[in-house]
Amino acid sequence: MASKTAVIAIGGNSLILDKNKPQVEYQWEATYETARHIADMIIEGWRVVITHGNGPQVGFILRRNELAAHEVHTTPMDIIGADTQGSIGYMLQQALGNCLRARGVKRDVATVITQTLVDRNDPAFQNPNKPIGGFMTKEEGERFMAEGWTVVEDAGRGYRRVVPSPNPIEILELDAINALVRNDVIVICTGGGGIPVVRDESGDVHGVNAVIDKDRGSSLLANGLKADLFIISTAVEKVALNYNKPDQRWLDVMTLAEAKRYLAEGHFAPGSMAPKIEAIISFLENGGPKAIITDPAGITRALRGETGTAIVPA
Ligand code: ADP
Ligand code: MG
Repeated sequence: MASKTAVIAIGGNSLILDKNKPQVEYQWEATYETARHIADMIIEGWRVVITHGNGPQVGFILRRNELAAHEVHTTPMDIIGADTQGSIGYMLQQALGNCLRARGVKRDVATVITQTLVDRNDPAFQNPNKPIGGFMTKEEGERFMAEGWTVVEDAGRGYRRVVPSPNPIEILELDAINALVRNDVIVICTGGGGIPVVRDESGDVHGVNAVIDKDRGSSLLANGLKADLFIISTAVEKVALNYNKPDQRWLDVMTLAEAKRYLAEGHFAPGSMAPKIEAIISFLENGGPKAIITDPAGITRALRGETGTAIVPA
């Protein structure tokens, strides 16, 4: 089959309908909402590889760890990464399988626990800046510091743990993922950008207390798979200039050069839209032909050019 391959990165937030209703049944609802649109895409003939964020889900596990620390061991960040890849992967795998079966399509869907190699000497390790877990008091923060965490004061709102966010350099399971994709398996992988690991002198890899940006990890995967399309599914239908300002303007398309210019001009908020645009710039600069940013409901319409923001080389 000569069908085209798309990597779709699903936002961790879009898998939770409402922050105040994190219950599992709502998570299923959000998962099915996304899975239905991805099923449509598969039925239209696309080979699909799905990645996902895990920010809020990691937050829930960290909170559970804190509450239960007097009875059970706490979970290191790399294992939390693996736990969320397993749980979110399972939900997507089941939802997508059911959506496809309901439409008479029999396809295998499989989740791959993915490790992403980072450089031990990445400067991010000297400058942990990605907040994780909830806000806490000074005293609670000091307890975490005694355990080896970096804790910072967050703009008067309290204290928070921060971890490094190093640059992803290699998806270790890329060949395995590629083999599954070539065999028409729908793959879910690189959850949370992949579990960050470093290689020691002997060649062994080990997890590190860090997080990888899911958009950056997904773009590395998309280039590795030579994907024809990189879709970032998030909470907005399109990207805007002057976002949330009176002169806001939604974009249907932008070129690579325009994306770079708008990024430099500060149109994309750090920590939310900016990493997506950076991930797409990297995908296009490394040979990727096209990227789209839209929301779950926009996916199939965006493929027909009816919505979303497309980003193209020129
Ligand atoms: P995800 O969980 O999908 O990674 P994020 O919250 O990290 O979601 O990023 C998506 C958010 O970026 C949007 O919901 C929107 O609020 C915000 N955003 C910031 N700048 C822009 C912009 N220029 N255009 C559209 N959305 C923007
Ligand atoms: Mg994000």
